[in-house]
Amino acid sequence: MHVPFLDLHAQHQSLQPQLNETIQKVIEESAFIKGEGVQSFEASLSKYLGVEHSISCGNGTDALELVLDALNIGKGDEVLVPALSWISTSEVVATRGAKPVFIDTHPESNCIDPRKLPEKPSENTKALIAVHLYGHPAAMDLLSDYCQKHQLFLIEDAAQALGGKWQGQPLGSLATAATFSFFPSKNLGCMGDGGAIATNTRGLAEKCRKLANHGQSQRHHFELDGRNSRLDNLQAAILNLKLPHLNRWVQTRTKLALRYSEKLAHLGGLELPHLCEGHALHLYVIKTGRRNELKNFLDENGIQTLVHYPAPLPLAECYSEMGHSPEDFPIAVQTCKEALSLPLYPELTLPQQDYVIEKIETFFK
Ligand SMILES: *Cc1c(COP(=O)(O)O)cnc(C)c1O
Repeated sequence: MHVPFLDLHAQHQSLQPQLNETIQKVIEESAFIKGEGVQSFEASLSKYLGVEHSISCGNGTDALELVLDALNIGKGDEVLVPALSWISTSEVVATRGAKPVFIDTHPESNCIDPRKLPEKPSENTKALIAVHLYGHPAAMDLLSDYCQKHQLFLIEDAAQALGGKWQGQPLGSLATAATFSFFPSKNLGCMGDGGAIATNTRGLAEKCRKLANHGQSQRHHFELDGRNSRLDNLQAAILNLKLPHLNRWVQTRTKLALRYSEKLAHLGGLELPHLCEGHALHLYVIKTGRRNELKNFLDENGIQTLVHYPAPLPLAECYSEMGHSPEDFPIAVQTCKEALSLPLYPELTLPQQDYVIEKIETFFK
């Protein structure tokens, strides 16, 4: 049996007639940029999240950049970020000319560990970016308290967590601003690149929108130095079609994740993800000291797995001048040695999942 890590084709097959119709309609209208579909998707996303404003943009990295720019974060500033994430989280800080200050992760949530935050952040610290890694909510209560106490902006990088909740509130509705990615493999993916910002602050929303559109609010009135970062109408139409299915997809992911956890619980030598209320598991990540061996074994048996991530952010080559060492981030370093992401997507069939489980059992027995 072959079990791919992800099967986007299966998802698209299930929506084929509607997708064809949607794409055909966009072609007929031929309004590819700033069409009605974009506005309608933004309105649907706001409604889904229960926020005042959603601003679509080119991708999830742009969304973070736009938020930082709108908050005037740049040269000389510092931003607290987790030591474990996709590179975008720290890259956007560095490319603004600001300094990412890396904080080790929590061994269970894999998100930024509030206990590791500096008692008093430096004077230059302006913001904290919380990542709901793998779809697991970050400790938003403690992080909010910290940011409030030290007057920092709190930004949610919710690229992996659309559809999740924290104490009943949608992830992406809990901070100054939140950012999303619609990269095809994310919980809600389009057929190319796409991203969005969500916020309840009108001024911030307007500024992000302006910055993403060459600094204009009206055509040819360039009020700010901006850029071009847009969600195109075709992607918006696809997202409009898919958004109503998101909750069902998240529920199926949750069911499959619980099923993995239940059936793998009896095995020694591996640590299962610490699932919590409200997670919208983007990835099902197990940890084991025999990670590479297990990965090879599963590979040989036709099961594709991935490593998220092979190294913590602060040890990336681009930050070598900062002089970090692995001892500074023991938890993130260990996670990178032990983490293995198993296939998890709504279209994963039970026989496929049973096969994965059976092979993992064989490996550990
Ligand atoms: C995917 C991702 C991003 C970036 O999104 P793109 O749309 O690929 O630019 C940012 N942060 C995290 C945590 C991500 O997983």
